[in-house]
Amino acid sequence: MAKYIFVTGGVVSSLGKGISAASLGRLLEARTLKVTMLKCDPYINVDPGTMNPYQHGEVYVTVDGAETDLDLGHYERFLDVDMHRINNITAGQIYESVIAKERQGEFLGATIQVIPHITDEIKNRFKTVAKGFDVVVIEIGGTVGDIESLPFLEAARQMKLDAGRDEVLYLHVTLIPYLKSSDELKTKPTQHSVNKLREIGIDPDIIICRTEKPLGTELKSKIALFCSVPREAVIEAPDVAHIYEVPLLFEKQGLDEQILMLLRMRSQRKNLEEWQKMVEQLKTAKEDISIAIAGKYTKLKDAYKSIEEALAHAGLANGIKVRMKYVDVESQGIEELDTVHGILVPGGFGDRGIEGKIKAIQYAREKKVPFLGLCLGMQLATVEIARNVLGLKEANSTEFNPDTKHPIIDLLPEQKKIKEKGATMRLGSFPCHLKKESLAYKAYNQSSIHERHRHRYELNSKYRDALEDAGFLVTGEYTEKGLAEIMEFIHHPWHLSVQFHPEFQSRPNRPHPLFKSFVAAAIRHMRSLLEPKPDRQEREKPPRQTHSRLKTEHTTIKLGASQLSLNIPAITEGQA
Ligand code: GLN
Repeated sequence: MAKYIFVTGGVVSSLGKGISAASLGRLLEARTLKVTMLKCDPYINVDPGTMNPYQHGEVYVTVDGAETDLDLGHYERFLDVDMHRINNITAGQIYESVIAKERQGEFLGATIQVIPHITDEIKNRFKTVAKGFDVVVIEIGGTVGDIESLPFLEAARQMKLDAGRDEVLYLHVTLIPYLKSSDELKTKPTQHSVNKLREIGIDPDIIICRTEKPLGTELKSKIALFCSVPREAVIEAPDVAHIYEVPLLFEKQGLDEQILMLLRMRSQRKNLEEWQKMVEQLKTAKEDISIAIAGKYTKLKDAYKSIEEALAHAGLANGIKVRMKYVDVESQGIEELDTVHGILVPGGFGDRGIEGKIKAIQYAREKKVPFLGLCLGMQLATVEIARNVLGLKEANSTEFNPDTKHPIIDLLPEQKKIKEKGATMRLGSFPCHLKKESLAYKAYNQSSIHERHRHRYELNSKYRDALEDAGFLVTGEYTEKGLAEIMEFIHHPWHLSVQFHPEFQSRPNRPHPLFKSFVAAAIRHMRSLLEPKPDRQEREKPPRQTHSRLKTEHTTIKLGASQLSLNIPAITEGQA
């Protein structure tokens, strides 16, 4: 039977509870234990798919197409195992299924209440996730004291009664604030937060203290005394330069030993060497490059969490530090791109900032700066080439202009029928076939891949031939449906965009091939900027491949003014 470790948070939100939980998972995995993770989100939304990233950060997509909390990304990156739909539950899902059961008559005669009906449903989810594993780490979202998280905490409390004393452990992540005026670290908020947890009936076994200054033995003893835990159970979590250092910091303080002892598990051989080597490499990378992320949520780093991580992994693989520069071309101006070595346009919804992103893509194409477009990034790269290379000035996605004369990006007929917004996009993992001699094939070094999707719109196949004639080739395809998944502009050193989200599959130990290749191209670009300018003949080399070899057979349409334009009602994704 699996052991349960509950991770709660105190004092403030954004303490990095997810990273603490993932680091703990990593440490237990290093002990050759079979570990899985579960994130409980106390909000009423069924999933975060319809939420604004300003409220929630990135929506992480699992292989089975669930739109989940970004902590699942940390779990996958730290544990290097795929998470699934069952690894993230929300209060909305719990209520939805309890109410559905009530309607079916499953509880005939009963008054449906938070305790026991909601808590039982939560506990069932805990037990389902735990099946087949040695340990399940369950992170409860929110901060202790919030009304919303109470049913989850109550279910966590009951688990000790259900499963037994040695089967369940509670770990509380809290903040030890530093007061500049008195030059002191303060433990009082932690004491209060632990008391709050006790009121609910949970005695924490281990306290993880987030702190910007070292705690020292005296403060550790004080926290131990007031919170009623042994001193070894007070673990310090200082700010670190790289999140991947956290498991090593915990290990140094014996967190894994503590857990094994408290859960009465036999200690297994430890294997953290590879992880240590990776962290060492992260720390020692000296030279750095700058990559612009031309997005919309430039002030909220969490909105592009997996992209940031994928770039860091790619930097690691190339032995270089990647600096990310968030650029909103519309408000900051195109000159912001003059100092970067690569331009990335991430996914997104809604028409805000679209023209700025198109300008950034045009800049990348014309100045031959390596360009990576992700999802919306690929759709906009297509619009850019249609407008500025094919001369279809009005080309657009019907997401932004439903009446455009050139709907170069459009909904498939099945998407046009969809009215409900929740979980109705093309979601999850789909196969993609790569064309030989493409940049993509070179990067992946195989012809068949699987990548995760989250979008509604697709390349309009009617324009495919015209785009390919201009050198913008479909080099990756979902052949079953004839959908363009990867596009490359061949009159450019590295211009590649994808309809999927490769960032979700990048791991520190297995950097994503496209990110790795993109960063390598950015390094080449940086070095070329340092070299003396070659003469004109050299600069005007023929394109790197003849696109006739890569071109696919397609029915050509005329792109004249007479071309049929689809009249589709405005559909904009409300949020996300
Ligand atoms: N808004 C676009 C679509 O729905 C792109 C989505 C994305 O970038 N994830 O197709």
